[in-house]
Amino acid sequence: MDNLTDIGAIKALLARHGFHFSKSLGQNFLINPSVCPRMAEACGATPDTGVLEIGPGIGTLTQALCQKAGKVVSIELDERLPAVLAETMADFDNFMLIQGDAMTIDLAALLTEQFGDRPVAVCANLPYYITSPLIMRLLESRLPVTNLTVMVQKEAAERLCAAPGTRACGAVTLTVQYYAEAETLFQVSRGSFLPAPNVDSTVIRLTCRTEPPCHPLDERFMFTLIRAAFGQRRKTIANSLMTAGLTKDRIKAACDVCDISPLARAEELTLTEFSALADAFTTGGAL
Ligand code: SAM
Repeated sequence: MDNLTDIGAIKALLARHGFHFSKSLGQNFLINPSVCPRMAEACGATPDTGVLEIGPGIGTLTQALCQKAGKVVSIELDERLPAVLAETMADFDNFMLIQGDAMTIDLAALLTEQFGDRPVAVCANLPYYITSPLIMRLLESRLPVTNLTVMVQKEAAERLCAAPGTRACGAVTLTVQYYAEAETLFQVSRGSFLPAPNVDSTVIRLTCRTEPPCHPLDERFMFTLIRAAFGQRRKTIANSLMTAGLTKDRIKAACDVCDISPLARAEELTLTEFSALADAFTTGGAL
């Protein structure tokens, strides 16, 4: 089995397959030998669990996952990589490759088909160009997964895992908080990849909640308010929420009901306060 963190071995492998990196597919392959075992450990992979990987590349993280998990299913978009993976993953009989687009594939059906009742974690070094939409897709579909242990661009990690009330906190932070408990695990420098990207990375773990931390009457409307508030985050909510089609009087009335200042800005409100505010509009007939 080739050492997939050895640059010489990778170059020889890729040359055998006539493979060239695609920038548009976010292809930066891991070459730091300590990262993959740490990620496999962090996602809780054991012989009794399954792992869904997105973007296996040449199989560096995939091998580490197969050494720990009962079964690993990887979705890869690049049609040139199955031939490479057939070589690098030949020693593993608990590996299954699905060639397709993680943004459009029916993930719920795939999980049932491939893993049945087995607990499943998502573990991946995500392509940067779809990090946020992919994480949102995974969370919002309420897939039966225990956690998402993913490597993302450092700046994206700061937003996804931001503490409430901080500058880094945005609509995406509150969306993550609704579905999961977010934590930063460790940093990975740009030199850990071939080719090296222009940014550093962070491994984060989003542990999926069985129950959300609040129960708005209309979940979609709560997220409409959150997006409106953070879309104009320098403005007071009395002003920013007007972009959600609400009048200033109604916003002030709803704030009154919830004991929230209409002069507050988005980042000063917690998820529970957004939930209460959404309910005040919903029950108050402001919709
Ligand atoms: N896991 C490998 C590693 O860590 O070395 C490769 C990670 S590389 C950052 C991202 C991988 O995702 C690439 O193999 C790329 O082809 C694949 N990819 C990009 N877009 C994808 C998509 N929409 N669905 C599935 N895989 C995708």
